[in-house]
Amino acid sequence: MWRGNISERLVLEVGKKKYVITPYNSPQNTETAMLMDEIHRLPQKKKPVEYEIELERRVREGDDGKMEQEDTATETIWSMLEMSICCPRCDGPVVINGPFTSFRCPECGEMIEMTPEIWADLLEDVRDELADDTAEGEGGRSTIWGTYNTYLYYGRLKPYCPKCKRDFDMENEYTGGDSITCIGCKTKTAVLPAPDWFDNVFKGALLIIGAQREQTLKSVAESPISFTCSKCGGTILTCGCDRTVECEHCGASVYLPDELWFRFHPAPKKKRWFVGFEAEVYEEDYDGE
Ligand SMILES: [Zn+2]
Ligand SMILES: [Zn+2]
Ligand SMILES: [Zn+2]
Repeated sequence: MWRGNISERLVLEVGKKKYVITPYNSPQNTETAMLMDEIHRLPQKKKPVEYEIELERRVREGDDGKMEQEDTATETIWSMLEMSICCPRCDGPVVINGPFTSFRCPECGEMIEMTPEIWADLLEDVRDELADDTAEGEGGRSTIWGTYNTYLYYGRLKPYCPKCKRDFDMENEYTGGDSITCIGCKTKTAVLPAPDWFDNVFKGALLIIGAQREQTLKSVAESPISFTCSKCGGTILTCGCDRTVECEHCGASVYLPDELWFRFHPAPKKKRWFVGFEAEVYEEDYDGE
């Protein structure tokens, strides 16, 4: 049992003996070393947790600490991602259909930066969970209250054709290049190499399938559209570049109504996209245990 205060003095009682720990910078810190010696002499069942972990490691890896070749294998694991964030300006949903570091909110036009660090905060645990603790076909949902409020749906799932839902047989069907053609319905799906920075998000990331090529909001209207200024009734022409336009008659800042804005910028639909990454698996996992 431990008593005391870590910043001043800690006392460990073992049977009838008492050991005292003083902070490491204390002149009496030789006691700490003595205590550690004592702990290592305790009977095995009372040894610290670290010792158990070390024992397990030795059983698994052998005494020399080197993994034996037959114990592990590298496997390509496919993960499905479906995500959106809440726009920090208007609270509208912003779908994230690929590994983009900057994009515009489709509702208000705000530029949103999503740095590789923010991506890593969101997904690095997901990657490990999918590699180590998730069976094929399973996954989870989470809402993350971080830099951006994020809704995430993920799973350990092979990429499939978005049209006919047939699983791709990556080894035989994908022959390189920037797309894969479904042998069933002939639909093409985008394939891109994982960007370098994505390796810190999904360690071992190789390929990304089904992501949008880019997530910029391009105006789809070919010529400017006119509408009526809500303040002075004058006619305003807009090319839809910005959500807010200045009225040339009265100088008011006019916020484009939804109907008009979405004519220029149809909101993208949420899409599933897939990340293939290499992970080391232990042989026992490999055998399906
Ligand atoms: Zn917005
Ligand atoms: Zn298909
Ligand atoms: Zn006006």
